[in-house]
Amino acid sequence: MQSTMQDAPLLISGIIRHGEYVYSEKKVFTVTPDGVEEATFFQVAKRAEQLAAALTKLGVQSGDRVGSFMWNNQAHMEAYIAVPCMGAVLHTLNIRLFPEQLAFIINHAGDSVIIVDASLAPVFAKVRDQIPSVKHIILHGKDESGLLGETIDYETFLTSEPAGFEWPILDERSAAIMCYTSGTTGNPKGVVYSHRSTWLHSMASTTTNSIGLSERDRCLLIVPMFHVNAWGAAYTAFFAGTELIMPQMYLQGEAIVKMIKELRPTISLGVPTIWNDVLRVTQNAPDADLSSLRGIVAGGAAVPRVMIEAFRDRFGIDVIQGWGMTETSPLAAVSIPPSGTPDDLAIDYRVKAGRVVAGVEVRITDEDGTVLARDGKTVGEFEIRGPWVTASYYGVDDPERFHDGWLRTGDIGSMDAEGFMTISDRSKDVIKSGGEWISSVDLEGTIMAHPAIFEAAVIAVPDERWDERPLCCVVLRPDASASAEELREFLSSRVAKWWLPERWAFIESVPKTSVGKFDKKVLRAKYAEDDLPYETLD
Ligand code: ADP
Repeated sequence: MQSTMQDAPLLISGIIRHGEYVYSEKKVFTVTPDGVEEATFFQVAKRAEQLAAALTKLGVQSGDRVGSFMWNNQAHMEAYIAVPCMGAVLHTLNIRLFPEQLAFIINHAGDSVIIVDASLAPVFAKVRDQIPSVKHIILHGKDESGLLGETIDYETFLTSEPAGFEWPILDERSAAIMCYTSGTTGNPKGVVYSHRSTWLHSMASTTTNSIGLSERDRCLLIVPMFHVNAWGAAYTAFFAGTELIMPQMYLQGEAIVKMIKELRPTISLGVPTIWNDVLRVTQNAPDADLSSLRGIVAGGAAVPRVMIEAFRDRFGIDVIQGWGMTETSPLAAVSIPPSGTPDDLAIDYRVKAGRVVAGVEVRITDEDGTVLARDGKTVGEFEIRGPWVTASYYGVDDPERFHDGWLRTGDIGSMDAEGFMTISDRSKDVIKSGGEWISSVDLEGTIMAHPAIFEAAVIAVPDERWDERPLCCVVLRPDASASAEELREFLSSRVAKWWLPERWAFIESVPKTSVGKFDKKVLRAKYAEDDLPYETLD
């Protein structure tokens, strides 16, 4: 029997129309050098219509790629709305890529127009003469440098057209927005999100079993809008009526703490590195006021237990850990303790990567692809499928990443019967010592609980006897000291004896990737070049 329901396509324009009317007075705040700028959802949506009209006049057609090389700000949100809703594809460019990678992804995607924040013009200038497909550069903000040659002024461009552009009715499966993985090995690969996948992902982000964004929230969006669509939160904001605070380039702990005090977000999203910096700043600042926050969402990398405890004990704030990937839009698992969990056990859940979100399915498999038990112990590779999980990469064949319709994540860990995922490593980071796995994630999380340690990253290094052993790279807090012996002693009551690292390197900071995660490949390369001095304990 045929269903009798209407078949409305799931389009981003539907999300925007909802936000624009139902939550018309909600605001987008942008932190600027001259203070905080604000605009209502209604105003932002109307300006996006003007932008779409102007882009159409410029010649942008359905399916064309329009890049953004921007901070998190209101104009970026306008591009987020205008470009997909008019039927073109927004390609969010990572402003921290090396010039070769940036040129590579612009050329690979075939971007025809790019909107650039004026403050980033000097960075963008490095690729300007290597991107032949780009016909126009629209410059947002004032730039007197002239480094980019001929450009179009964003504000003049946008205001040259009236609002009222009618969003076309598109195929919900058509491309809306694209993002490249940061390419830790080889070239970055593009993931193309559809209107439908974005719509469903936005809806999933509003459920209270996930991050539960709602009309009662004001979200400080620290995760960049080029990092998996700011984890989906920019679109979810219009879906749910959540206000947005856009921090632009003010991403240091000090600036964030000030922003929280003054703009009073209820929730904020960012990688653990950012939250570690916030804890550092607030350590000696008794007047730090984070009281507006109901929670912080941390993900993209394992969140150490000590961080979750510090936010709870010092500020009464819940850290909500999420797991996902560029390939999964990204929200796929969120760690919220099940109802009835006693307070003293809640953190045991919060340190897990997440609990599978309704709409996607997750399983673990062994090297032969056999599905393994969800018993909380058996370790394998996570595989995922669902309507906001990518089915392919843009313009490249990568059949090895897929298995019977599931995406192979490259993340290793276990899963329990209630759908909680524990990640022990990415497959490229695993340490295989004497045939057994040592979890670098566990070692790092445990060492970071030592009061003298600010950051720790553990890499595998070759070992004659055991094949591989952990090399522990630690960063001491300012004015703190600890010897390798003392740190190993600290670990000895907390991890298995055979995990205890012999090799210790004291470094100034852990290198970070373009999205602020620990960059272990840099540490591995330094080790390979004999450029990572370390000491070896007996
Ligand atoms: P990149 O490859 O640049 O890091 P992604 O942002 O797509 O790009 O990273 C996805 C990866 O981040 C996941 O495959 C996983 O290894 C890691 N990750 C994400 N969330 C978590 C988490 N909560 N705990 C541990 N690892 C995580």
